[in-house]
Amino acid sequence: MLKNSLQALFVLVLSICTLAWAQDYPARSITMIVPFAAGGPTDTLARNLGAILTTTLKQQVIVDNAGGAGGTIGINKVAKARNDGYTLLLMHVGMSTAPAMYSSLPYDTLNDFEYIGQVADVPMTLIGKKALPPNNFKELLPYLKANQDKLTAADAGLGAASQLCGLLFMSAIQTKLLVVSYSGTAPAMTNLIGGQVDLLCDQTTNTTQQIKAGTVKVYGVTSRQRIPSLKDIPTLAEQGLKDFEVVVWHGLYAPKGTPKPVLDKLIAALQGAVQNPTFKARLEELGAEPVPLSKANPESLRTQLQAEIKKWDPIFKKAGVHAD
Ligand code: ASP
Repeated sequence: MLKNSLQALFVLVLSICTLAWAQDYPARSITMIVPFAAGGPTDTLARNLGAILTTTLKQQVIVDNAGGAGGTIGINKVAKARNDGYTLLLMHVGMSTAPAMYSSLPYDTLNDFEYIGQVADVPMTLIGKKALPPNNFKELLPYLKANQDKLTAADAGLGAASQLCGLLFMSAIQTKLLVVSYSGTAPAMTNLIGGQVDLLCDQTTNTTQQIKAGTVKVYGVTSRQRIPSLKDIPTLAEQGLKDFEVVVWHGLYAPKGTPKPVLDKLIAALQGAVQNPTFKARLEELGAEPVPLSKANPESLRTQLQAEIKKWDPIFKKAGVHAD
């Protein structure tokens, strides 16, 4: 009896302390883990989001790049981090492709995280090094087929959006290029510009500037519709790859067990960010867009992640893609 009362008292005190502590949140800077190299598309999205969250939460949101293994190293870092709201994860569609690609992961995708909400949708572009002979998509296809044993496609490892796009593209044109993997598409882009690799499928948040500056050749966009900021570039679908569509969705996560009042503050801050005109304008310039408010919540992210895991799993099993 006494033991039960003491236990109840202990639980009560603990929840009062947690509530009081959560009310002060955030009392120091927050780390947002980006599971890819600095300077790439996820990093760019995270830094733009981080700037808005910093203003809303009145504490610095610092981006920490933990690249490697298609993002799974950084994801695992967050799964194992303290669940106090001071470590967050920004990750894209790879959260849903990795479970099918790796026969074992060091974290449990559906059970090791709290969901904050969806963040933004980013289309991709198929680009090539400047010295690649084909000047357009029509010329590209026969060239790739004729030279597939000599050409290389860059990506950011199994689980990366660039790998997903490359895989779907090669399967659509029934051509297999040699893949060179990096810790993110920022270093992949450096090597593409340097001419060490030939092709790359990457998000517009990393490619728009290069396309506009003419440092790379562009062969098409992967969204269903053309992108307003790159309106002269046709979609791959309209150039003959029927139904080809890759749009990179992103979510914001926290380690499992992060207190609810803390999550509520983060959800509210994310909802403010997706409606923020500066954030919207910046993403638009980069060919992307924040999600509508209706998607910036935990339920929407959970539903999206579950649906995408179901979608990709049979596709990769069929393609026989596996890291180990
Ligand atoms: N988004 C990754 C990056 O930021 C690369 C990828 O997913 O392809 O580098």
